[in-house]
Amino acid sequence: MSEMIESLKDKLKEKGYKLTPQRRATLDTIMENQGKHMSTEEIYDLVKEKCPEIGLATVYRTLQLLDELDVISKINFDDGCSRYELNNHEEDHQHHHLICLKCGKVIEVEVDLLETLEKEIEENYSFEIKDHKVKFFGYCNTCKKIL
Ligand SMILES: [Zn+2]
Ligand SMILES: [Zn+2]
Ligand SMILES: [Zn+2]
Repeated sequence: MSEMIESLKDKLKEKGYKLTPQRRATLDTIMENQGKHMSTEEIYDLVKEKCPEIGLATVYRTLQLLDELDVISKINFDDGCSRYELNNHEEDHQHHHLICLKCGKVIEVEVDLLETLEKEIEENYSFEIKDHKVKFFGYCNTCKKIL
């Protein structure tokens, strides 16, 4: 946890920014809610509990900055708003997501069986793949039963 804060401090400093209490509170909130894929408004509501004086615009700008610094990533689940999650730098790349079309639940998938696919694409399109992002749309276990 604190390692993350230290590395963020360095990244911010390189770009001429400071780790202000508002930025710190925003990152803390995302760290405390890992796996929740929150929207800007949802993050704002929680950050307000730590920093009552913070504005939505500040949270919005902080999220953009953290995204730019590769600390968090923006994901679009096609539900009309951008959501954010923490980047896990111990993994090579971000996990994949299962998105329920009925209740909107997002499930994280850790298995990655896409190496073969990547290899085939690289050969067939002579394209060097660096990363991929995959979203699966369908019905979760609960919604499946009441369809
Ligand atoms: Zn569902
Ligand atoms: Zn996720
Ligand atoms: Zn993958």
